[in-house]
Parts: sequence; C-alpha cells; structure tokens
Amino acid sequence: MLYYSLNRQSPVVSFKEAAIRGQAPDKGLYFPKRIPEFDPLFINHIEQYGKEDIAYRVISPYVGDDIPEDVLRKIVAETVNFEIPLVKLNDKVSTLELFHGPTLAFKDVGARFMSRCLGYFSKSITEKVVVLVATSGDTGGAVAHGFYDVPGVEVVILYPSGKVSSVQEKQLTTLGKNIRALEVEGSFDDCQRLVKQAFADQSLIEQLFLTSANSINVARWLPQQFYYLFAWQQWKDKTAPPVISVPSGNFGNICAGLLAHVSGMPVKHFVAACNANTVVPDFLESGNYVPKPAVPTISNAMDVGDPSNFVRILEIFNQQLGSLKKVLSSYSVSDVETKRTIREVYSAYGYLPDPHGAVGYRALQQYLQTDSEAKGIFLETAHPVKFYDVVEPVIHSNIPVPDSVRGVINQTKQAVLMPAEYEALKEQLLKLR
Ligand SMILES: *Cc1c(COP(=O)(O)O)cnc(C)c1O
Repeated sequence: MLYYSLNRQSPVVSFKEAAIRGQAPDKGLYFPKRIPEFDPLFINHIEQYGKEDIAYRVISPYVGDDIPEDVLRKIVAETVNFEIPLVKLNDKVSTLELFHGPTLAFKDVGARFMSRCLGYFSKSITEKVVVLVATSGDTGGAVAHGFYDVPGVEVVILYPSGKVSSVQEKQLTTLGKNIRALEVEGSFDDCQRLVKQAFADQSLIEQLFLTSANSINVARWLPQQFYYLFAWQQWKDKTAPPVISVPSGNFGNICAGLLAHVSGMPVKHFVAACNANTVVPDFLESGNYVPKPAVPTISNAMDVGDPSNFVRILEIFNQQLGSLKKVLSSYSVSDVETKRTIREVYSAYGYLPDPHGAVGYRALQQYLQTDSEAKGIFLETAHPVKFYDVVEPVIHSNIPVPDSVRGVINQTKQAVLMPAEYEALKEQLLKLR
C-alpha cells in the first residue's frame, strides 16, 4: 500500500515510511492511496473468525510487504490479546468495552500495534529513534507502555499540567527507562503545537531521528478499525446493523470506524459524541470548520479544539459534506449532562460508565430519539477508575481499584516541568542526542 500526504506536496511513501515519519514532510497527514474492500464472505460470516484473524485480515492490505506475514501475525496477536466484549445494557443499547488493555483505555490497541511495528522497523535504522507525542491524557500512558524498554527507541511525552487525571499522570510519569515525561504549563493544544514545531524544525530533525506517536501516525490510526469489526462480530442481529456512537476528541477512532465502514463493514449510522468542544458538531450544522481553543471538561481526553484527523474523514468522503452527513451525526454533551448520565446509567443498569463513555451514551440516546427502529452501541473508551476523581463524587461511592492501577498510583511521578515554549522543548530533545 502506498500513502500520500493530504497536503499533496510530498512524495508517496510505503507503510514503513509513513509509520516511521508519522507526518509527511509537507506537514500533511498520510492517507492510503486505495481503500481496500473487505471480502463479503468474511463480513457475512465474521462470527466464525477469531479476534487475531479478523485483525490480520483488516490490517494486512495496509501493511503490504513491509512486514513479513509471520511477524505481522505475531504483532497483531500481541495487539489484541485482551478482551474487547460487547455488553448489553438494554434492548436498544450495548457498549463495546475498549478498556481491558494495560492502561485501561482504548488507545492501548493503536499504541501496541505502532510500537511493535516501529520496533521491527527500527532494527534497520542505525540512529536512535525518538518518539515524540502530545497527550490529552490517555495517549501518553498507552504509548509509554507500548514502547517501554523497546531497544533503540526513546519516548518523549508532553502533557498539559493539571489537565490530566491522577491515574493518567502516574501511568505516563512512573515507568522510567526509555520513557520521559514533560509537564507543559499550558493546554493540550499547546502540547500539540510544540510537537508540530519540533517536526518542522530542520536543524533539530537533522540531529535526531524524530517520529510521532499521535493518532496522526497511520500505524496508530489504522488498527483502530479492529474495534468496529469486533463489535460487528458480536452483534446478534446481522440484518439490522448498529448505530455506533464514538466519544471523539482528535477524531482518530471514529475516522477508523468510517474507514472500516466504507471498506464494507455494515453500520447503520455513526455518531460523533463530543463534549463542550464543538468544532465538528458545529461544522456539520453550518458547513464552516472553525477551530477553537480547547475547553477543559471532565472528559479530558476529548478536549481538542482542532481535531487533527478530521481532514482524513473529509478525504474518505471526497470532501462531500452531503455524503458525510448521511453517515455521520454529531452531538455535544455538557459536563452537567455527562454527570447526570453517569448517575442515570449506573442506577438504571448497574453499569458505571466513565465520563467519555457517558458522553457516548448520551449522544447515542439523542440519535436514537430521531430513529425509533435503530439499536446502537456506544464505545466505552476508558475504565471509570481512570477518572475516579470525577466519577466517585457523582455516584457517592468508591470504585474498586484494580491491582494494576493501585501499583501505579503508589509510584513516584517523574516529570520535567516546562513552559509552553518551543525553545524549552528543543533543549530537552537535544539532550537525547
Ligand atoms: C483519546 C480518547 C478519546 C478520543 O479519541 P479520538 O480518537 O482522539 O477521537 C475518547 N475517550 C478516551 C478515554 C480517550 O482516551
């Protein structure tokens, strides 16, 4: 498979190059030259396939010959080696739980796949590879765990000070070894801007082999298609495909779902569930895409004011707003509604959603009100314990803490506090030479 830059000023590249570079030299996002089609036999009989096989079938056309089949099968098996169950709440609503990976959020799948691909590719690179990533909360931990102790790879994570939950912060600041955390005095958008500046800095990239681990990297973005196929595999009524509601921030996850859909996976409709950051719902309504500064909310992993992956969504739909709107709706859910939803779902079904999942549930409900026949799935993108500081006061009781989290909470944070200024980041990066 070849990939072109959405800015169309850079040469096409292989999967390997796209994964190593992260972003194209013209600062565009890479996009596959051709969108593969799933074999209808595979889609119609998907319940006969195992998770590993499904994942391999989805990803192999995108990887092509860049990774040998046996290696890719092994990478895929390690990527999905935890449960991803579809749990029914009531007749109309189910949830796909994406939080059973090591850092309890869906980003584990993309991060595990990407780190293993880069680990494989880095064997042919003699320089030290530096993975640079900005996180609004969950990317940092997932990337840190994915790359922990991978030889030849250093990881630098930027996170906004005071704007990630305490569990998220510990997950990305306590590993040590090849993982470094920079605590930025600013917002997630500042972190993302600093990362972009680093990639655009010729004098820096001549000295360091820099790559990005944000969801713009094709090796993180593409494997997120797996979830949608796993949902379809477990969906009982194959004659009536589900509406799928995706808690969205940078729009990588839902963009992968839309990609799987245009490749032939049946979905009735997609719902992009947003918090108070409303660039996309506003765009679908007005046709004007107006980035705004990120607004802090209790679903912090979705506090994004200018979602990077949205350009890919437009590309999937050939820039046709009309065709996009047939497939995608978007709703914004306030913090007050999010808390009310957590309480409501917990008391009605004994099911405790995290704030992101609650946004997904509420947005799905809003869509279902417009379509009385439809049934749906909301993606539960994180375990509620990751946000215990928000969730516990809402339900007035404690959440049992899994052992994996308890271990992390008790460790000491190691992070370098820095202003949201590029010179400060550059100074840190140059230390890695
Ligand atoms: C990252 C994240 C999201 C948003 O996903 P995008 O791909 O950025 O849209 C939603 N929920 C949780 C828990 C996350 O960590």
